[in-house]
Amino acid sequence: MSLRGLLSWCSIGTLLLQNGHVYARSVLADRAVGVPVANASVLILGGGVAGVIAARTLYEQGITDFMIVEARDELGGRLQTETIGAPGNEWVVERGPNWVQGTQTGNGPENPIWALVKKHGVKTQYNDWYDSMTTYDESGYVNYTDTFNESGDGYDTLTVAAGARVAKKLVDMTARTGYSLIGAKPQTPADKACEYYQFDWEYAQTPEESSWIASSWGNNFTYDPDDGGFGDDNQMSIDQRGFKYFIQAEAAEFLQPEQVKYNATVTKIAYSSDGVDVTLASGEVLSADYVLCTFSVGVLQNDDVTFDPPLPAWKQEAIQGIVMATYTKIFLQFEEDFWFDTQMGLYADTTRGRYPVWQNMNLTDFFPGSGVVFVTVTGEYSVRVEALSDEEVKEEVLGVLKLMYPNVTIPEPTAFYFPRWHTNPLFRGSYSNWPSSFFNGHHENLRATVNQRLWFAGEATSLKYFGFLHGAYFEGLDVGTTLANCIWAGGCAGMAHVPEVTNAYPYKV
Ligand SMILES: Cc1cc2nc3c(=O)[nH]c(=O)nc-3n(C[C@H](O)[C@H](O)[C@H](O)COP(=O)(O)OP(=O)(O)OC[C@H]3O[C@@H](n4cnc5c(N)ncnc54)[C@H](O)[C@@H]3O)c2cc1C
Repeated sequence: MSLRGLLSWCSIGTLLLQNGHVYARSVLADRAVGVPVANASVLILGGGVAGVIAARTLYEQGITDFMIVEARDELGGRLQTETIGAPGNEWVVERGPNWVQGTQTGNGPENPIWALVKKHGVKTQYNDWYDSMTTYDESGYVNYTDTFNESGDGYDTLTVAAGARVAKKLVDMTARTGYSLIGAKPQTPADKACEYYQFDWEYAQTPEESSWIASSWGNNFTYDPDDGGFGDDNQMSIDQRGFKYFIQAEAAEFLQPEQVKYNATVTKIAYSSDGVDVTLASGEVLSADYVLCTFSVGVLQNDDVTFDPPLPAWKQEAIQGIVMATYTKIFLQFEEDFWFDTQMGLYADTTRGRYPVWQNMNLTDFFPGSGVVFVTVTGEYSVRVEALSDEEVKEEVLGVLKLMYPNVTIPEPTAFYFPRWHTNPLFRGSYSNWPSSFFNGHHENLRATVNQRLWFAGEATSLKYFGFLHGAYFEGLDVGTTLANCIWAGGCAGMAHVPEVTNAYPYKV
């Protein structure tokens, strides 16, 4: 591209940037009157939020020679629905993400997922996670609300203490060490269930398995307006078109049918500094100048896709160093409502993490008359239940309800369903979690470009918002913009990597 062309493109961009989509169409229109066009082709691997937003970004930057390659038959990625229920009382529930986590505080920064949800009219309901709670243990209903409130304060103290470590440049440790250092040492099943609710229910792993510092900034950048977060409002999608509607409707505004290939599972990515060949399970080979891979880190870790040549050591260390955690919602439907009338229920088992968090959908503001309730398990417990049959898990869950309600004859549910994210070869888990052995250099390497042609984006590559839908959104936008700039510049080195992640203070042995 000539300098004149570049300047002309930049000025158009600057002029029209405030107008959002108008900008894109104007750039495309301008191409017809002689401004040089980008002539590179891009394959966007994966049609989740990161892939769709990257595609929209290329489109807005005047690059239309791209194709989304998606193994499933729809866009949305982990945004997936399941219809459950007895005939005549069926409800669409979310297998995957359910909440816009943090929306907006005053005129502060807005969660871009919230903006899309409003734009496309997705129906949501405020979900009160903290003040609408009933507590149980193995003997039935027991009020340990005080412990629950203390655990919320303990979690806040944990994040503040992590911030102090960052300010002093102290090393990371596990969130368990952090809890111990602030004096929060859960002893009883109730203590442990409350801690689980504050921690594992968000990160899908235990404090032992999680970085103290990264879990804290993950919380603050989303929920804490003082740290630039959106706010602590959690809006739950109750839209019967599915939460996925917002991203599918957004894609429909710009994506042409020939720009997406469904039912196309990638098996191999062969790359060089000249371009990329992508082999599909059907044997078809697609070639492009650039590839943007948005597969989950679980997929990359599990060698579901082979790379030729194998990815460099720095990339592999980054991929294997982060964790793909699992979060499992187990849905039940009953004919008669016999459970708590709050939004949330917490059950303290002597085994930490055994069917602990319950949510009542049978409320006026959610799914009235549905008889639907669900329980969530995470981490290793998710892996465990995925290895059991549906019938075995159902028996365990009903056994827990019998403990929670010793005076009720628990009926047979009219519906029972849970998704198996951990064993799903297109995901291999639910979302990434940051262990304390994972350093910033690793994270840079997770995002970094390989051989100028192979680019990466997705929730896990988001430094501030890993794990979240808005992390995937921001990465699609950010990496998509950098890639577009690279294409317009006629090529570039891409996102830089760290050759070796080394210790600032080496071990003395
Ligand atoms: C159970 C669960 C609960 C969650 N709850 C929330 C929540 O409430 N709020 C929130 O903000 N976030 C939540 N998340 C996280 C959120 O879903 C993710 O952060 C986000 O959807 C990731 O988007 P992505 O585009 O990075 O990846 P993905 O959505 O995984 O997109 C990647 C795409 O690649 C495709 N793919 C994979 N392998 C291949 C292959 N070999 N060939 C072709 N295509 C392939 C997949 O089908 C997928 O469509 C949850 C996730 C789960 C699973």
